[in-house]
Amino acid sequence: MAKILVVEDNALNIKLFCDLLAAHGHEPEGVTDSRDALEAARAFMPDLVITDIQLPHVSGLELMEQIRGDAQLHNVPIMAVTAYSGVGDDERIRAAGAQAYVAKPISVLRFAETVEELLEAGPMTDDAPATNEAGGPETGTAPLPPEGDDSSQA
Ligand code: MN
Repeated sequence: MAKILVVEDNALNIKLFCDLLAAHGHEPEGVTDSRDALEAARAFMPDLVITDIQLPHVSGLELMEQIRGDAQLHNVPIMAVTAYSGVGDDERIRAAGAQAYVAKPISVLRFAETVEELLEAGPMTDDAPATNEAGGPETGTAPLPPEGDDSSQA
């Protein structure tokens, strides 16, 4: 089970997405007003954010930039859902911080598969090792033991 924040202004779509996620055993939280999305994400600390791109007030691209710039949320995987897919959309959406996007109207199978792929990949890793000089939340936490499933590697 994963916590998944869904940001979507369309009432039918958000119900569809949340029902699908719940049917796959996840815990969805829906936000219809994108102005509330960053605060909701900070409170919910989701394992994945799914956001519409065409949103009134704060667009999906703006929201992704806010998340990528947030100290606590910057590593959370983001899946964008977009109504049109014109030339350059994929690059623009990925450049704004999404790991994947699914075109609307969605394929239920592709939606579910993309969610599972992103959850499996987990939080984004930084290219450079993080420093904790600014007093980040990692201070004092014990490192997790290695999973050791590559021990046969020569
Ligand atoms: Mn929309």
